Amino acid sequence: MNGMFRRAAALALAAALMLPLAACGKGSDTVGPNNTPAADATPTPEATPTPTPDPYDAVRNYWSEDQLTQAWGPDQVVEHLFFHPVIAYPEYTFSSAISADRQKGLDDWMVTADEFKKILQSVYDKGYILVNMGDVWSEVTDENGVTRMQRNTLMLPEGKKPLVISFDDVNYYQYMLEEGFTSKLVLGEDGQIWAETKDPFTGEVSLTQDLDATPILDNFVLEHPDFSLNGAKAIYSLTGYEGIFGYRTQNDIDIAADDPARPAFDAKRQAEIEAVKPIIERLKETGWTFGSHTWGHIRLDSRPLESIQRDTVRWAEEVGSLVGPTNILFYPHGGRPDGDDWHTTGPVFQYLQSQGFRIFASVGINSFSHIKSDISAVICDRLHPDGTTLRNGKALKWYEQFYDAREIIDLDVRPDLGTTW
Ligand SMILES: [Zn+2]
Repeated sequence: MNGMFRRAAALALAAALMLPLAACGKGSDTVGPNNTPAADATPTPEATPTPTPDPYDAVRNYWSEDQLTQAWGPDQVVEHLFFHPVIAYPEYTFSSAISADRQKGLDDWMVTADEFKKILQSVYDKGYILVNMGDVWSEVTDENGVTRMQRNTLMLPEGKKPLVISFDDVNYYQYMLEEGFTSKLVLGEDGQIWAETKDPFTGEVSLTQDLDATPILDNFVLEHPDFSLNGAKAIYSLTGYEGIFGYRTQNDIDIAADDPARPAFDAKRQAEIEAVKPIIERLKETGWTFGSHTWGHIRLDSRPLESIQRDTVRWAEEVGSLVGPTNILFYPHGGRPDGDDWHTTGPVFQYLQSQGFRIFASVGINSFSHIKSDISAVICDRLHPDGTTLRNGKALKWYEQFYDAREIIDLDVRPDLGTTW
């Protein structure tokens, strides 16, 4: 019941949020404040409003306990793919509207919405099942009170292979808004997550579930509930310097407490914070989880420790306060703390671990993971479907268990940068 009330409140908030938009959502059955069940209403069957069933119930409950008979042990790899936000309008991103070196960068780091859909279909067809990254390892304490990380045995349906997906930088940075990406996540009148988007050719603002990785994955899992273990989706790796999910929730420490501009800034920021809360709540309800990508997207391999400390505190204050605490840290630029987190445990690594991080994720050519023996922490690499690997002949093999890059890459829309396969 609690969940239903929370949901109804979230929907009411969302309805208010939607007003200024020319929503193209399927929204005639608006749930507004009048439909919100009153907490003190006498619970007679006639008076109880019928809540719209949550379509994700079917996802969460798809696999029953007695179907999870395959033990995936600590020595078996849990594969991990990571993506950046997907390119919504590749015809714009890869046009003369964007400079050639920006195009090269976006080609290197991103996949398009259509490529992302093809990748999802392929990993699903190859038998992968999404698992919650937080379920892969856990911390144990031995008889001497020493804590270490351990790889858990996952119980899966027969024939399935576990897969973690992470999404980096789902902050809707200003540069992305100008280069052919969607603009923010919103909660639609139907209670589902949509992306607000501004068509770069027409300037028209609308809602889409077709051009943004979050609703694309949501819908893929709704259509293929066997692709998710216990409702798991993906994990967001969030920075904080331009807020989160398209909401400018960040503080500006250059505006002093007694600055005349402070009250207006605080009011605006607070409105953004209130607006993103129902999005976060719905994402949590539907299997999404959250990790840190540092507040300022800083290099952990070269920054001074004091600067990393300030950044870490700021992430906790401005992002962790909204999404909740996390023990997962995704390195910006793949930069490993102290330059080498695998063979050494330097001061930066020790500090980050002391702040609660236990799972440290970098980027590599396979889903390597290493449990550290001198401190409670695990390091893991992720593969990165993007232009660099889709075009690369060597990477064809590294990724063939997930997809055939030659069938994924959209060479008609990407710039003419060649391939080595
Ligand atoms: Zn990043």
